[in-house]
Amino acid sequence: MHNFDVVIIGAGAAGLMCAATASGRGRKVLLIDHAKAVGEKIRISGGGRCNFTNLNVSDKNFLSHNSHFCVSALKRFTSQDFISLIKKHQIDFHEKTLGQLFCNNSSKEIIEMLLRECTEGQVEIKLETKVNNIHSPNHCKPNSTNYHTDFLSSSPELHFSSPEPHFCHPEPHFCHPERSEGSEEFGLRNQNHEILRCAQDDRSKAQEKRGRAKDDSKEKKGDNEENQVYRDVTQNKNFYLETNKGNFSCQSLVIATGGLSIPKMGATGFGYEIARQFGIKVTQTYPALVPFTFEEKLLEKTKLLSGISVPANVSCNNISFREAILFTHRGISGPSILQISSYWKHGEKITVNLAPETDIYSALIEEKKLKPKQEIQTFLSQFLPKNLADFFAKEINHRGNLADLSHQKIKEIANLINSWSFIPSGTEGYAKAEVTLGGVDVNEISSKNFESKKIPNLFFIGEVLDVTGWLGGYNFQWAWASGKAAGEAV
Ligand SMILES: Cc1cc2nc3c(=O)[nH]c(=O)nc-3n(C[C@H](O)[C@H](O)[C@H](O)COP(=O)(O)OP(=O)(O)OC[C@H]3O[C@@H](n4cnc5c(N)ncnc54)[C@H](O)[C@@H]3O)c2cc1C
Repeated sequence: MHNFDVVIIGAGAAGLMCAATASGRGRKVLLIDHAKAVGEKIRISGGGRCNFTNLNVSDKNFLSHNSHFCVSALKRFTSQDFISLIKKHQIDFHEKTLGQLFCNNSSKEIIEMLLRECTEGQVEIKLETKVNNIHSPNHCKPNSTNYHTDFLSSSPELHFSSPEPHFCHPEPHFCHPERSEGSEEFGLRNQNHEILRCAQDDRSKAQEKRGRAKDDSKEKKGDNEENQVYRDVTQNKNFYLETNKGNFSCQSLVIATGGLSIPKMGATGFGYEIARQFGIKVTQTYPALVPFTFEEKLLEKTKLLSGISVPANVSCNNISFREAILFTHRGISGPSILQISSYWKHGEKITVNLAPETDIYSALIEEKKLKPKQEIQTFLSQFLPKNLADFFAKEINHRGNLADLSHQKIKEIANLINSWSFIPSGTEGYAKAEVTLGGVDVNEISSKNFESKKIPNLFFIGEVLDVTGWLGGYNFQWAWASGKAAGEAV
């Protein structure tokens, strides 16, 4: 059993930042990942140049069931703070558009920078490491009286073979040891912070029972084992991890395992499972920053447009984004579609203004007067690429030139171009989503240090939380800011 001050599970953006910060404070840190390399999403992000932050970060750029949750951490570690770090490590960068900052050379520079920051302190990194179980003598699983005792008895250092678990209270599920104020009494609090005194009671009862027991040697052994666990608990070894690379104990455990997007790259729901194990709520999750798919009939018509990109204003539920759209062989993508996908729910309509600079109705009335012999395709190609103009001309289904357009038809055309609408059949799912919407319920987490309100010394950071940023460097800024805040607290 190796002991650490802090174990961080997930060596992505948030985990690396947390490890660097905690080790910088002198904490002995173990950083675990099941992947072969750290920071894989950093590596592939921004087309290999990592859009590492945005110059204009505010809570308005994030989605969460609690929109205020992200404010504190984002204020305490700003994009300028990350830029200072980048500059300290002499990494060249540039602003691409809309405040989005990218590396000039390679996203690998960001990973190397974070690793350098980690090696300045005491961070041990274990890759290809699978966490099989997390136990906490302080937080017992419901109806699992043998839960941690099995584990302890399998440890070479801790033998706990007593058939009666003394540190688990069977009723309240998630409790942690505390000395009640002004007393030497060792107690446990339940979720409602009521002191249960079960540990002390159980210890006394156990001792009493053992006093009556005839087998003295057995009693001695049981007592030593019990004292060992008691010492561990009082020495703040709060968590025990079983992994394929050995067992570890730690005072603080940080879950930084990200969301569900891109399972091929190692994304798992591990963080959510751990939250649930400890009785922490997880909100419904959805793929976000994700392309839309079209149903067959629409796809049949738009398939030929695959690869065409135009600037557009895309809206859903009174939220709009003005960036490019891109037709794909499955439906539609591009930055403004990815952005709006985070606000879309199944069955809802998406509206696209394909000529956001032009009031097509007025323009068409004017053009009809000036160039009555003009064809509709020619008119449309002033605003749209030729293939797209042809596509919409077909949709309009008008034989003749502009002079033949009725007032009603002009209205229809204007509506089609200024507010083309469709209902996506779905999204391309987690396989193509850049992030996961939803996650560990932030109402259960401290916005100051990211510690669970229910389970002391258990922290959640980064994308695993129900905080999702817009496209444009916001998600990495969230990972840096939450990793930094937890790193200062663990
Ligand atoms: C293709 C793509 C491009 C992106 N580009 C950008 C961009 O340019 N700018 C931006 O701001 N955001 C971008 N994002 C989003 C950004 O990558 C994430 O929001 C960010 O990486 C989240 O950081 P994290 O540390 O919380 O999680 P992650 O970076 O996902 O790290 C989680 C880590 O946990 C590990 N892990 C998972 N499960 C387990 C387990 N069971 N046991 C052990 N380890 C585990 C994973 O291997 C991974 O290393 C992009 C995402 C994708 C998919």
